[in-house]
Amino acid sequence: MFNHPSFDAHEGVHSFHDAPSGLRCIIAIHSTALGPSAGGCRMWDYATGADMLTDALRLSQGMSYKNAIAGIPFGGGKAVIWGDSKTGKSEALFRAFGRAIESLNGKYYTAEDVGIDTADIEIAAHETRYAAGLTTSGAAASGDPSPITARGVFKGIKTTLARVFETDDVNGRTIAIQGVGSVGGYTCDYLAEAGARLIIADVDDEALAAVARRTGATIVAPDEIYDVEADVFSPNALGAVINPDTIKRLKVRAIAGGANNQLATGDMGEALRDAGILYAPDYVINGGGIINIASEVSGTYSPDWVSDKVDAMIETLGDVLDTALSRGAPTNQIADEMARERIALGTG
Ligand code: NAD
Repeated sequence: MFNHPSFDAHEGVHSFHDAPSGLRCIIAIHSTALGPSAGGCRMWDYATGADMLTDALRLSQGMSYKNAIAGIPFGGGKAVIWGDSKTGKSEALFRAFGRAIESLNGKYYTAEDVGIDTADIEIAAHETRYAAGLTTSGAAASGDPSPITARGVFKGIKTTLARVFETDDVNGRTIAIQGVGSVGGYTCDYLAEAGARLIIADVDDEALAAVARRTGATIVAPDEIYDVEADVFSPNALGAVINPDTIKRLKVRAIAGGANNQLATGDMGEALRDAGILYAPDYVINGGGIINIASEVSGTYSPDWVSDKVDAMIETLGDVLDTALSRGAPTNQIADEMARERIALGTG
C-alpha cells in the first residue's frame, strides 16, 4: 500500500471482514488535521480488492480537500463496502459496518454515498455513535444530504457560467446532465426552475422518465451525453468521466457537476484548459452534503448555518476559477493548492 500510486500519507487504512454477514470493507482515513475524518460510505461491486483500495485512497484524500475548502471542522475519510448494492444488503451487514466504525473511536464519521441510502446508515447507527445523515435517530438528524449538495451544484454552475459568459443567468442555457439520481435529479429541478434547457442521460430509465416529466428535459443514450452541443456538462454519476477520449468529444464551454473524482488523472485539468473548457473542481462545488452533515454532527442542526457555509464554498469556487484564469493555470491545481494550504495551516 505504501507504494500505491494513490497513497498520499494517509494516516490509517483499515480493512474489516465479518464472516457472518459477509462484510468486506475498507475505511481510509487520509487526515485528521482539521478534525475527525468524515466522508460517505460507498457500496460498489469492485472487480478486484485492488480497485477497492484505490477507490478508498482517492476518495478519502478528496474528502480532506473537500472538507478543508468547505471550512468545516472535519478531516478526510471514506468507507467502501465491497458488494452489489441491489442484492448484497442486509441488516447484519450494516450492523457489522457500524461496529467497524465504532472500533475507530470517533476518528471517522460516516454518511451515505453511492449505493447507500439513509436506511442503511440508520442500521449502522444502532452500533455506532459516528454515523450521520440520519432521518429518525439523533437530536439533530438532517436526513438525505443530496438536496443540499444539489443546491451547491446549481449555484456553482451559475458561478462558472459567470466566468465564461459574463452573466450567471441560466435562463436559455443548455446543460447536459450525466446521472439523474439523487444529486443530478435535484440539480435538474433547480436548473429547470431557472429556465435552463436540459439534456439528460442515465442508465436508469425510470429515473430518466421521472426527471423528463418534471422538467421537460431531452433524453439521450448514456454514451451520447459527451457528444451533445451544450453550454455546460454536469457529471452527477460516476468518477473518471473526464479523460482524453471524452475531452475530445465534449462540445461545451464548462464542466460543473456533483460527481466525485471526475478527472481520470490530475493532468486532465491541463487538458481541459487547453481545450478551452472551464472546469469547476468537483470537491469545491459538491461539498453541500458534507456541510449539512457537519451541522448535524455539531449537535444542533441549523439550516441558516448550512446555507451560509454553502454560499461561502461557492464564493471560494469563484476565487479558484478567477485565480486559475488570471494565472493561466488549471483550476484543479489551484484548488489543490488552496486545500493543502488550509490543511497545513490547520484552518479549514
Ligand atoms: P445516486 O446513486 O443517487 O445517483 C447516481 C445516478 O447515476 C443513478 O441514477 C445511476 O443510475 C446513474 N448512473 C450510473 N451509471 C451511469 C452511466 N454510465 N451514465 C449515466 N448515469 C449513470 O448517487 P448520488 O448520491 O446522486 O451521487 C452522484 C455522484 O455525486 C457520486 O459521484 C457521488 O459520490 C457524488 N456526491 C454525492 C453527494 C450526495 O450528497 N449524495 C455529495 C457529494 C458528491
